[in-house]
Amino acid sequence: MSKITIASPHGFCFGINRAINLAKEAAQKYKENIYFLGELVHNQHVVNWLETELKIKTVQSLDLIPDGSVVIIRAHGASPTTFAHAKEKDLIIVDASCPLVLKSHQKVKELSIKNTKTLFLCNSISHDETIGIVGENPSMITPITIKDIFSLNVTDPQNYVLITQTTLSTLETKEALDFIKNKYPQITIIPHICQATTDRQNAIIQLTKTCTLIIIVGSPTSANSNSLLQVAQSLGVTSYIIDSALEIDKKWFIGHQNIGISSGASTPESVLEEVIQKIN
Ligand code: SF4
Repeated sequence: MSKITIASPHGFCFGINRAINLAKEAAQKYKENIYFLGELVHNQHVVNWLETELKIKTVQSLDLIPDGSVVIIRAHGASPTTFAHAKEKDLIIVDASCPLVLKSHQKVKELSIKNTKTLFLCNSISHDETIGIVGENPSMITPITIKDIFSLNVTDPQNYVLITQTTLSTLETKEALDFIKNKYPQITIIPHICQATTDRQNAIIQLTKTCTLIIIVGSPTSANSNSLLQVAQSLGVTSYIIDSALEIDKKWFIGHQNIGISSGASTPESVLEEVIQKIN
């Protein structure tokens, strides 16, 4: 019989709990005409539950929200242009942006005012957090992925600051930052991976010491879930990411006695439990 070890901590972080609670409060207070601008969190199970239970619709553009309605801004934040557009439409804004993401917004805003150019190190330039941060000042803030950082070419590194996305892989980021420190020691680095992300990744590092197979339960669109996968894979452990128990493949378990399981910061505990039950 295989042994299953569950990572500690795993699952919902404080930013996601806060966003869900704000959505519940908005549903209670305003009752109707409430909209999420994009997925509140990157997990379809949570989004489906919120839409069904709280009767809040998800739309991808502010233009699809009738004037005067309520809009809930996702945990990943949004750009100032989005907030301005929402105000023009006379929308009631419930800002569920994670306070740690807002801290990055504040920082890049301050840097832009001082005419400092910012590199925003991210997993994807189309991730919602990246779009929101770059939107603070697109002419001064350049998004750059961990993959592309190794071909960075700047002529005035002394004018740059590099800030990291909150949910990056700590191991990959360390490699990227070591490269930058070596090539451009003049660039100031502001590491901003959040504590919840760091703690969940450290728990994966612990699992890799005893487990030969690691399963991450999380949405493929969730940056922090993918970072958990990257950490496990970069330490040489066979790992998979799945959105639900339906995606489990029996073949993965052949020859593995010690199995580690974790879940992303936006994955409900119930989905993790279903996965454990199916593996058992
Ligand atoms: S992962 Fe970190 S930054 Fe993202 S919502 Fe959770 S606490 Fe906030």
